[in-house]
Amino acid sequence: MRFLRLASIFVFLIFACGWVAGCVRGTMETPPYKTSVLPVEQRVQDLLGRMTLQEKVSMLRGAGWMESAAVERLGIPSIKMADGPMGVGSWLGSSAITHWLKPAQPLASTAFPAGVAIAATWDPELAKDEGQVIGQEMKALGRDMILGPTVNIQRVPLWGRNFEGYGEDPYLAGQMAIGYIEGVQGEGVIATVKHFVANNQEYERQRVDAEVDERALHEIYLPAFKAAVEQAHVWSVMSAYNRVNGAYCAQNTPLLKEVLQKDWGFEGFVVSDWRSTYSTAPTVNAGMDIEMPGGGITKTWLKGAIVQASENRGTWLTSEKVLSEVSAANISTVTIDDNVSRILRVIFTSGIFDHRHVASGLVDTPGQRAVARRAAAESIVLLKNEGSLLPLDLWKVRSIAVIGPNAAVARTGGGGSSLVHPKYAITPLDGIKERAGNQVRILYAMGNSMEGEDAAKDTPAAQEQLRNEAVAVAAKADAAMVFVGYSPKFEAEDFDRETMDLPSGQDDLIQAVAKANRNTIVIFNAGAPITMSKWADSVPAILDMFYGGQEGGHGIADVLFGDVNPSGKLPFSFIKEWKDSPAYGHYPGVNLRVDYAEGIYVGYRYFDKHNIALQYPFGYGLSYSKFDYSGFQVTPRRISGTQPIKVSLDLRNSGSRAGAEVVELYVHDGHSSVERPIKELRGFRRVELAPGETKGVSFMLDRSSFSYYSTAKKGWVAEPGEFEVLVGTSSEDIRLKGKFYLKQ
Ligand code: BGC
Repeated sequence: MRFLRLASIFVFLIFACGWVAGCVRGTMETPPYKTSVLPVEQRVQDLLGRMTLQEKVSMLRGAGWMESAAVERLGIPSIKMADGPMGVGSWLGSSAITHWLKPAQPLASTAFPAGVAIAATWDPELAKDEGQVIGQEMKALGRDMILGPTVNIQRVPLWGRNFEGYGEDPYLAGQMAIGYIEGVQGEGVIATVKHFVANNQEYERQRVDAEVDERALHEIYLPAFKAAVEQAHVWSVMSAYNRVNGAYCAQNTPLLKEVLQKDWGFEGFVVSDWRSTYSTAPTVNAGMDIEMPGGGITKTWLKGAIVQASENRGTWLTSEKVLSEVSAANISTVTIDDNVSRILRVIFTSGIFDHRHVASGLVDTPGQRAVARRAAAESIVLLKNEGSLLPLDLWKVRSIAVIGPNAAVARTGGGGSSLVHPKYAITPLDGIKERAGNQVRILYAMGNSMEGEDAAKDTPAAQEQLRNEAVAVAAKADAAMVFVGYSPKFEAEDFDRETMDLPSGQDDLIQAVAKANRNTIVIFNAGAPITMSKWADSVPAILDMFYGGQEGGHGIADVLFGDVNPSGKLPFSFIKEWKDSPAYGHYPGVNLRVDYAEGIYVGYRYFDKHNIALQYPFGYGLSYSKFDYSGFQVTPRRISGTQPIKVSLDLRNSGSRAGAEVVELYVHDGHSSVERPIKELRGFRRVELAPGETKGVSFMLDRSSFSYYSTAKKGWVAEPGEFEVLVGTSSEDIRLKGKFYLKQ
């Protein structure tokens, strides 16, 4: 008995030991790169050590329209991309059925307002919420990497993609980008800040050379990218189509190696814009890590007329070409390792190696729609409101004429790769009808067709007839709302606007309606300034609704009827006419070279200096409330070294409605040894206040807020002396001023 018991214990021990040994062996056999608890760098190095040169090189080029190359032997996943930045764009390729070029098969996802509208909220928290929704929808659709945000500066009012970016100011653009990226990446989805850099016009975007001086690059065009890298730790950067100071962005060693990698410590990867590579060895050596697009799908595309007509056909980083440059010793294996390790690092850090995003889950949920609606309403800028015509009181107004080519059509965004196809989109007419209910009679007339949408309606006779119909309804109503502006055919990627004027017939329509109804409200869709000299003085109310996404119609109704108190502020200076722009005369360039002759004097920096009268200044926007600024303090008065300055004030809502005010903080350096702009935005805060409420608002400013980029010292310099802090409600309406002294 005893013997039997001992024997069974013995047998058990033998089995147990075998099991334990097996387990240990199993663990040992799990390579470190597959062990999610190990540090990312260890995983990267381990994986790199297991890859053949061929496998590494295969990762440097896309495997589809929106997919990077996988290495199946080692379990390296493909990175599945989708266009942004205004929502998840539909994609084309092996993994998808739709694309913006084929809107007949739309993919339903939430369409947010355009980037410029998001910037007009001056609300990075909202940008973060937007980014989070986009991240959630990306995961639900099985995608890993969103191609956004766009942070290129609005240099030229005619640039076709102004609507996508965050306006003219580098600080504002950077803060909005940080919010967006944190929201996206917080969901484990890769954000891509684009287009690096100085992609400020569509005209000849694949050949043009932006000649930008070093200081302007660092003070105007780079800061939003810098903020994205240093503060939001963005995982991917997209190189632009154009050249900067002679070198194409995808092979621009000073920008990619020196600025991005060395100075800013960027550890993620660079992806090319679609067909924006122009060489093999110089591109790889400069640190451009993934050429897009790639794979079989590009074969048909490359045969297409546009690509054939261009000098560049892409396909520079095929394995064949890269390997041949490695054999010729034009690319070292150390460089290949560095580029590949950047891709691997992001695959591990983002979590997509360990947890694949598998298409499952909901998009466009009520919660996600609510963010889009909040964004639509918060972004609207009230430019004029004579006699407090707005908000309209539904107890007093019995009838409203809703007029215009953009009244019964939802202009959700500008055209091109950023256009999102939502499940539904609320037109202004829908939104107004829904809000007005049975209480008010809504009369609709198109008044003028959108130029180019229906040739039969574009003739002078047809325009006159449509206009007369609009005048007739306007004359019968208590108020008239005229919805004008552009469509994606006028403001889009791939071409610039020819003029700042409204499309044909729209100015005449506004003037005719204004004559028929003294309560005429003009609302327009545009991503940049429009000329409004023909009617701005003859209408009592004007609103800029940019492109409002799928909830634009609700957003504008919220503001027109006072459910939302407008708080949007212009993220660009609203010039009166194109010739007022600092870029006028330096666009679109001569012999494919654009001289950024205005240097750092972009936007309000230029208008301040030359005292040019604007239609509306940067940072301007009205509210239905009134805000009082008081109790200004700048402490301490004298600082040195890295000591920060605290700026505080009291903000009071002295109106009778709850509302939000954006407090803008500018710094003026009057003693600099180099020329500096009269003021530069260095802080802002959107503050919500109940009627009669007062809140304390404070800012901490550090040395970076007083610095300029010194080309002599190749870095940021704050010079000792007296600085002025200016706080206001727009760049031209400064309410409080204070000083401090920087000792050293
Ligand atoms: C655009 C990018 C876009 C890419 C992919 C390019 O034409 O410039 O912004 O992400 O296409 O659609």
